[in-house]
Amino acid sequence: MRIVTHPETMRDLARRARRSGESIGFVPTMGALHDGHAALFARARGESRRLAVSVFVNPLQFGPREDYARYPRNDLNDARICRWSGVDWLYMPTAAEVYPPGFATQVTPGPMGDVFEGEARPGHFSGVLTVVLKLLETVRPDTIYLGQKDAQQAALVMLMVRDLDLPVHVSVCPTARERDGLAYSSRNAYLSPEERARARGLPRALKAARQAVRDGADSARAILAEAKRTLTREAKPDQIDYLALVDPRTFQPLTRLDGRGLLIAAVRIGRTRLIDNMPLNAPRSRP
Ligand code: AMP
Repeated sequence: MRIVTHPETMRDLARRARRSGESIGFVPTMGALHDGHAALFARARGESRRLAVSVFVNPLQFGPREDYARYPRNDLNDARICRWSGVDWLYMPTAAEVYPPGFATQVTPGPMGDVFEGEARPGHFSGVLTVVLKLLETVRPDTIYLGQKDAQQAALVMLMVRDLDLPVHVSVCPTARERDGLAYSSRNAYLSPEERARARGLPRALKAARQAVRDGADSARAILAEAKRTLTREAKPDQIDYLALVDPRTFQPLTRLDGRGLLIAAVRIGRTRLIDNMPLNAPRSRP
């Protein structure tokens, strides 16, 4: 595995591989790698001749009162996990290289960037899309791998790829979870043991809603009421930022589930903000 810090070096390595006819898979991350990231690496490893992973805590996607400074960083462990995962190039640029003095241009997402995560975190998705576009331009992979865990981010990247005619395939991989259902997240490290125990109430709430759908619920009101009941009882969240049933491609709220839906949630447990989601599909047999 080669650790690459300079964008030009990364660009050259990828260019040479491409010229030799090698396919390139790419997984962008912010490091503090865990089994959720490793699941993306495994998928990408199996589908591409070359595997590039970036570890870059992107200052542009953090708000002024967010956790940029205290976001967990662990370069040594990240390199170890990448090596185990068969990564060819671990790309770790500095913020100064990605955003040199005078940097001014950003990608503006459409309306989907202003709701839910975008409403709670103004400017977040502009920062995400800008760095993803820059990384794509440096690596020029055949496929970029993203996690369903960050469903709104994945939907926005897919839309950017389509709208800006970017020559890359987007692969969205299922959410990897701990044994009790909690989605792996770098932010889980912030949870105290007591908060960690409450946090599993979040995936349980999503599962309770899925069960309600299987039992025949189809109005957003009934589905959300079921999720909220379990969430309140088991996670005892300090705040619910949102809990909503949306169209998975547009993130527009649905009033009724009659095709594909996505149940999305963001909650605060103590000072930690957790997000999760669950695809919900209306049973085909429903009249
Ligand atoms: P992050 O380092 O949090 O920016 O995440 C980097 C990529 O890993 C994103 O595409 C995430 O959606 C994905 N990811 C994070 N956690 C998980 C998880 N538990 N399961 C699957 N993918 C994940």
